[in-house]
Amino acid sequence: MKELLGAAASRLIKYMESLPERRVFPAASVLDDLSVFSGNLQEEPIDPMSVLDELDNFGSAATVATNGGRYFGFVIGGVHPAAQAANILAGGWDQNAGLEITSPIGAELEKVCKRWLVDLLGLHPEMEIGFVSGATMANFTALAAARHALLMERGWDVEARGLFGAPPIEVIIGEEVHVSVLKALSLLGFGRERVIRVSVDNQGRIIPESIPEINRPAIVCLQAGNVNTGAFDPIDKVASKIDGTGTWLHIDAAFGLWAQVSPSKRYLTRGLDKADSIATDAHKWINVPYDSGLVFVRNKQHLNSAMAASAAYLEEGMIRDPHLTVPELSRRARAIEIWAVLRSLGKSGLADLIDRCCTYARDFADGILEAGYEVLNDIVLNQVLVSFGSPDVTREVISGVQKEGTCWCGGTVWQGRTAMRISVSSWATTESDVRKSLDAIIKIAKEVH
Ligand SMILES: *Cc1c(COP(=O)(O)O)cnc(C)c1O
Repeated sequence: MKELLGAAASRLIKYMESLPERRVFPAASVLDDLSVFSGNLQEEPIDPMSVLDELDNFGSAATVATNGGRYFGFVIGGVHPAAQAANILAGGWDQNAGLEITSPIGAELEKVCKRWLVDLLGLHPEMEIGFVSGATMANFTALAAARHALLMERGWDVEARGLFGAPPIEVIIGEEVHVSVLKALSLLGFGRERVIRVSVDNQGRIIPESIPEINRPAIVCLQAGNVNTGAFDPIDKVASKIDGTGTWLHIDAAFGLWAQVSPSKRYLTRGLDKADSIATDAHKWINVPYDSGLVFVRNKQHLNSAMAASAAYLEEGMIRDPHLTVPELSRRARAIEIWAVLRSLGKSGLADLIDRCCTYARDFADGILEAGYEVLNDIVLNQVLVSFGSPDVTREVISGVQKEGTCWCGGTVWQGRTAMRISVSSWATTESDVRKSLDAIIKIAKEVH
């Protein structure tokens, strides 16, 4: 065991050391080598050391270097060293975080993280927290709590009776809602299309005046951090508009929630304390390993009732058993890595991580404008949308950037315009990474033109 784990650690160290120099996306020839994995499962056991050897020799090369400083695709954070180390140790612990009795350390660190995060993010002090796999599951879990609460108020036990015949619930979303909210709605029986879509402005922000009058039980889903522009819905305005109607206010804040930790960005989330539930990711902007997300629900009872495997659990006692806050029963102890990154960075370190990413996004935008290309969004956070001209030209530049390998940026279509999206979300990105990436992008754009 000792030799094997030592070998795994030294291979990982070698991999990490290669990140600054390697191509961000693997070359085509490396991907061809993946065919070594295509054989059938053999009859006899193989020594774990040989398995590790095979995995490292052919697997490491076929990874995308999202953990280096020059990956700007989607909104994918790197892994902070403290979280990486905790992940390796805790991976070995193999804790089942579902029950306090199966992992005292897992349950304790969930409680610590809950207290720290409520304070750090300025959330309502009653917020209960669930550690899920990502923002999709956080949206799902929050909306399940909403479904429970709104129907229970009308005398309908949705967990027992289901949705057939239940009083209808209206769901209001913005035109630029993230697809994961639609997926959560579809899984919960609300229907992707059985929703009211409200118009948005040119940054993707809901226009509060276009929210219709609410006269049924309703859920309003807002967004803090649009996946393309980084823009925030005006939470405070919408909250006052629906105040007193008994409407459930849910916020998809997958990465935008972390604006709260930066004094200069906090204005973006005004009204957040009015939310009944909030979904966010930990694997994006606080740089813990995949997979890791958080759900916050203000009324703990609604969350527990929606997530309980049986009502009897609730009568058993008042201990905070983690499985009452999430869809899973058995699961890994994600709070450990979140605790480690918070403990290591502290409040100022976390604010610095967020601020640095935002500054680099601004630098990207300035560099692009200076070179004569177009930035399509207001830079309020860490997202930059770039047009290099016609849709075809922009697509050609994106594909050129991806092939060249210095950095990686993806494409998107923003309100009808084809764009390259740059998302700065990693602790590992430096000024020199931004410079190198900008040089590569601009050189390729010039070649295409
Ligand atoms: C990334 C993202 C999600 C989905 O998060 P996953 O972790 O991929 O499930 C939801 N909403 C927004 C705004 C996002 O950026």
